[in-house]
Amino acid sequence: MMSGHTDMVLVDKKGIRIDGRTADQHRQFKVEAGVLNNADGSAYVEIGKNKVLAAVYGPRECHPRHLQNPNKAIIQCKYNMQAFSVSDRKRPGPDRRSIEISKITAEALENVVLTELYPRASIDVYIEILQANAGTRCAGLTAASVALADAGIPMRDIVPACAAGKADGKVLLDLNKEEDNYGEADVPIAIVPSTDEIVLLQMDGNMTRKEFDKAISMAVGACHELYDIQKDALKRRYSTKKEEVEEDE
Ligand code: ADP
Repeated sequence: MMSGHTDMVLVDKKGIRIDGRTADQHRQFKVEAGVLNNADGSAYVEIGKNKVLAAVYGPRECHPRHLQNPNKAIIQCKYNMQAFSVSDRKRPGPDRRSIEISKITAEALENVVLTELYPRASIDVYIEILQANAGTRCAGLTAASVALADAGIPMRDIVPACAAGKADGKVLLDLNKEEDNYGEADVPIAIVPSTDEIVLLQMDGNMTRKEFDKAISMAVGACHELYDIQKDALKRRYSTKKEEVEEDE
C-alpha cells in the first residue's frame, strides 16, 4: 500500500531510517522449522516486527475433486491475516488482498516443489499472519517454503523472499510499515537461490530504471542471507528429530 506524500521524515540527513537502519540494512530475520506438532510440516518466521506461522499438509487427496490434476499435485495456499495482527482490528476472513497473496505464493512455490511426483494430490499451505508490519507476503512465502521442506516434500530448493523500495527519494532495503505507507515504491521479490531464478516480483509505486536495478540487487542480496538462515533452521530441526529417533531406539 503506497500513499505517497507525508511530512514525516523517513530518512534523516545522516541517512538513518526511523527504526535506526541504514538504507541497505534489512530487519532482523528469524526462522524456526517444525514448530507445530499436528501439521505435516511447519515454520515460524520473523522479519522485524512481522510474525508469521506456516503449516503444511500433504501430499494428500485433493478436495474438491474437480481441482485434481492427473499429471501433478496442486498447491493450495491460504494466506490469512489475523484480526489482531494490525493495530486497528482487521476484519476477519478472506478479502481481495489475501486471495491475491495466496495465489502468488502458491505460484512461487510451484516452481520448486516436485509436483509431478504426486499426480491428483493436493499440497495445502496455510499462512497465518500473527503480527504485520509491511513485508508479510515475503515473510509468509519464506515460512511456507521451510514448512514444505519440514514436511519432507521433495523440492528443488527453498524460496527466500524480501522487499526493497523507495522512500524520501532513497532506495531502501526491506521497508517497514511507515516506509511502505508513505514511501514512493515497494518491490517484493522471491528467488530460487541455487538457480538464480526470480519466482515472485511485484511493484507498487514508481522508481527510475536505475533505482529499480539497485532495489533488486539489494533485495536479492538479502534473500541470499535469509536463505542461509532458512537452511540453518532446517538443519537444527533435522538434528533434533534425529535425537528424538535415537532416544526412542
Ligand atoms: P505486505 O504485508 O506483503 O507488505 P501490503 O503492502 O499489502 O503487503 O501491506 C503492507 C502492510 O499494511 C501490511 O504488512 C500490514 O501491516 C498493513 N495492512 C495490510 N492490510 C491491512 C488491513 N486490512 N488492515 C490493516 N493493516 C493492513
